[in-house]
Amino acid sequence: MSENRPHVETLAIQGGYRPKEGEPRQAPIYQSTTFHYDTSETMGQLFDLERSGYFYTRLQNPTNDLTAAKLAEMEGGKYGMLTSSGQAANFFAVFNICEAGDHFIASSAIYGGTYNLFGTTMKKMGIECTFIDQDITDEELDKLFRPNTKCLFGETVTNPTVSVFDIERFANIAHKHGVPLIMDNTFATPVNCRPIEWGCDIVTHSTTKYIDGHGVSVGGAIVDSGNFDWTAHADKFPGLTTPDESYHGLTYTEKFGDAAFITKATSQLMRDLGSIQSPQNAFYVSLGLESLSARMRVHCENGRKVAEFLNNHPKVAWVSYPDLESDKYHDLQQKYLPGGSCGVMCFGVKGGRQKSIDFMDELKIVSIETHVADSRTCLLHPASHTHRQMSDEELLAAGVAPDLIRLSIGLENVDDIIADLEQALEKA
Ligand SMILES: *Cc1c(COP(=O)(O)O)cnc(C)c1O
Repeated sequence: MSENRPHVETLAIQGGYRPKEGEPRQAPIYQSTTFHYDTSETMGQLFDLERSGYFYTRLQNPTNDLTAAKLAEMEGGKYGMLTSSGQAANFFAVFNICEAGDHFIASSAIYGGTYNLFGTTMKKMGIECTFIDQDITDEELDKLFRPNTKCLFGETVTNPTVSVFDIERFANIAHKHGVPLIMDNTFATPVNCRPIEWGCDIVTHSTTKYIDGHGVSVGGAIVDSGNFDWTAHADKFPGLTTPDESYHGLTYTEKFGDAAFITKATSQLMRDLGSIQSPQNAFYVSLGLESLSARMRVHCENGRKVAEFLNNHPKVAWVSYPDLESDKYHDLQQKYLPGGSCGVMCFGVKGGRQKSIDFMDELKIVSIETHVADSRTCLLHPASHTHRQMSDEELLAAGVAPDLIRLSIGLENVDDIIADLEQALEKA
């Protein structure tokens, strides 16, 4: 990282869009499907990727690109793009370098939606994913790499089990096998951790969570560090290093250098799969980024107080929150997220599954929602909600106990949140 690079709080406000003389201070919403050109020749060059410019919002839109550029700067990456959802971001990030017959490796503790995408839907496309325990040894992991393995995937702080990924260790292993490390940084956000600084190559986000922060827009993003040398492992990544017949035989790495990955994801996958974020939502994401660092500070402060309260409560069986000194992941949290992990934690109420459900039904301020990581304190019972497609065996493999409650601490006054939890625990 350059010594002159501004801090993430500054980039959140000033990054991406730098207006010129007389231009709007806030990046405008380009609510337009198409863009005007004077000659047929110019338009033709755009379609040949001979010239850069906007032509159709299914592929690219200026509002999206300005927002993505800001997020990329915050992550310490080089290139970014927005997608319609976090699901689309993770799919695009992996599918951009994997095709039928390929294999990749992912942590089994990742978000349930991503687990289904990798383990079920992508399997139907002929792409196989091996899921690993994050506590796996280097030697065991080495043995899982095959000649057709194309990437390693993890989440900085996993949803819902809040396990911290040992980024540096996994980046080294991935690189030893000639593949990139892709990481979903949704829960940590670039305010709390920038995986690229630890060797990660590609970062993804569900912007739906803390980045939007107010529960108003579903969206995703991909940021490329520009660091992974695709041509050094050209045989593994033919999609980037050999001619694309759908662009008259152009080769992404030759033509676009370190922008090859994002250019292919935009001009090929976005063209064909059309999972663009709307410019209106991209504007909300940009606004969310502006206040992200101030909000994350409160999410983490409130989170620590609530985790300590729960940890000391006689009716609570266990609490997982990496910021707690007693937590299994505390050392990794201190290394990668010293300012705080996020506002999400997990816990179980003594008496098991039914007691946890009884407790949730007594809450008044804290609401039951299929959402997480925004301004409102909310909770969810993964075994009966998000993870209900998973068998008990798969649940346990993903580290999701049947009594596990995922609690996401919002921006309300923390005394009110604690008082609500306390009265519900008393009644349950
Ligand atoms: C929510 C979430 C996703 C999926 O994002 P959507 O925007 O809901 O599609 C992916 N990864 C993580 C870590 C998430 O929390």
